[in-house]
Amino acid sequence: MSLGVPALLVRGGTRVGGSGLIQTVHILDDPMDEYGEHEATDDPLQVLRHSTAHLLAAAVMELYPDAKYGIGPPVQDGFYYDFAFTKAISESDLGAIESRMRRIVNEDRPFVHETLSREEAIAEFRKRGQDYKLELIADKVEGDDVSVYRTGDFLDLCRGPHVRSTRDLKAFKLLRVAGAYWRGDEKKPQLTRIYGTSWLTPQQLDDYLKFLEEAEKRDHKKLGKELKLFIVDERVGAGLPLWLPDGATIRRELERFIVDEELARGYLHVRTPDVAKLELFKQSGHAQLYAEYMYPPMKFEDGEELELRPVNCPHHIVIYQSDLRSYRDLPMRIAEIGNNWRYERSGTLLGLNRVRAFALNDAHIFCTPEQLMGEVKGSIELALYFSDVLGIEDFSYQVSTRDDVKEKWLGTEEQWQRAQAALIEALESMDQPYRIGVGEAAFYGPKIDFQVKDAHRREFTNSTVQVDFQLPERFDLEYVAEDGSRQRPIMVHRGAAGAMERLFSYLIERYVGAFPTWLHPVQVIVIPITDAQLDYARKVADRLRSLRLRVEVDTRPERMQRKIRDGQARKVPYMAIVGAREAETEHVNIRDRSGNQVDSSLESFASMVATEVTERRR
Ligand SMILES: [Zn+2]
Ligand SMILES: [Zn+2]
Repeated sequence: MSLGVPALLVRGGTRVGGSGLIQTVHILDDPMDEYGEHEATDDPLQVLRHSTAHLLAAAVMELYPDAKYGIGPPVQDGFYYDFAFTKAISESDLGAIESRMRRIVNEDRPFVHETLSREEAIAEFRKRGQDYKLELIADKVEGDDVSVYRTGDFLDLCRGPHVRSTRDLKAFKLLRVAGAYWRGDEKKPQLTRIYGTSWLTPQQLDDYLKFLEEAEKRDHKKLGKELKLFIVDERVGAGLPLWLPDGATIRRELERFIVDEELARGYLHVRTPDVAKLELFKQSGHAQLYAEYMYPPMKFEDGEELELRPVNCPHHIVIYQSDLRSYRDLPMRIAEIGNNWRYERSGTLLGLNRVRAFALNDAHIFCTPEQLMGEVKGSIELALYFSDVLGIEDFSYQVSTRDDVKEKWLGTEEQWQRAQAALIEALESMDQPYRIGVGEAAFYGPKIDFQVKDAHRREFTNSTVQVDFQLPERFDLEYVAEDGSRQRPIMVHRGAAGAMERLFSYLIERYVGAFPTWLHPVQVIVIPITDAQLDYARKVADRLRSLRLRVEVDTRPERMQRKIRDGQARKVPYMAIVGAREAETEHVNIRDRSGNQVDSSLESFASMVATEVTERRR
């Protein structure tokens, strides 16, 4: 019955696809069947949450007897249940549903497990008009025994386990309403998904609701709009964000930082097109193994077929092969912030975190087996350096290795051993703790995933180091060894800062708009106290701009206090206030975004900000 997916983990997470950096988000509320596709769990919180989902469905069926219920699994921090209502409901209806849930709690209804014959189960759900459950029985239940749970009149197809009685459910709250396709399939009817949360104690619930409130404030989708950083517009399409001027400024700074640092570390930055002939992706294997995420090819009258690239690897391989390479050229690190196109299903799109076009801080390192360990180490060091400068905290590593099922993996046992050892040794030599995910490697080689969490504690992969034995074979890659023989290089796919979109969403939530000065779209606002200081204010701005700082002069006919407040709301690092005294002495009165105030000469202020920016201080 189980598909072998660990309970409540990574459906839609780590994918085994073609070669190349695979964008992964571990979203813990992907649709799961309550009958079968998530393994029964004894974790008390999960049992509690799943039981609360039943309670929700029981309450809904009492209030809306015509509704049909779909599935109701536990998810990270809570649960949901999907319903088809005859009349649309909204968040304003949740209060009444919650009251009914509390009434059922007080009635102390036991959760009763029964095993029905297939015939009995079909009759029961048919009597209730529950078509979705009938469909699940037809598709999911093998054999003649059907496991169900009863809570009063409410009957659910379920393997349990559950709490003893509804009275055990003490601390829950319904949170929101969303649309969700039946069984996650866009061709199937859209249902109404009600999300809730449930905890062991009222204190835990309270803490969680506070956390949620804080997370909402930090949510990058909300802040992105408020701070005018990016938008998503239906006319352009879902999952295709538009970077507004301030967002684009931050991205440009990030890209310069990344590219300059990589150049300093011996990477060769290239530019390659977003499309290639479909043939190229057939050779790489993506057209066969990764088709689900690729856009349909563009067909032309002369028979040519072009494809938007889902990964950059094949283009970089073509660059590697543009010349005969010798051992002296290795390791060769070809890098690009390359645009990738992946057709993610609309239900899985998530702000900037999961999009349909993104720019990856990508590199492909071609090296000898002896160089592998050093290159892995260098890749981790670079990712750590980026994290340090950007303030990425609370991350963890997973080393994904192969298991013993031989036919699943490409490459020889010895290659795998060597590559896995290199990955682990690299992390250990750098004192970096890691966990091992046995059997979670890509089929073409082992990898290290660098996991970070967003404001909602959703874990996602921000960068990875992947060893690949497959593409060098498929493309017949070679280098001339010291003895003149032709040898095959190893290929390492490596993302250090990850996708620009995902990195940006992380930084928005991390800094809640108060970006470090080097990244902030406006570094200084000059505020003249009266119009008499306008000329001096412009002079201050010119001086700062001559140092390549981003400066605005606030010439609005507003009071000074208002201008300061507005600047603080935009989290602008510095406001330089200039009155008659400042103009006379070539000084500025500086107010930073936390409210500290200090008087300084224009020159020392200018050099202080310029240094802060050049050193990319946090
Ligand atoms: Zn790649
Ligand atoms: Zn259940």
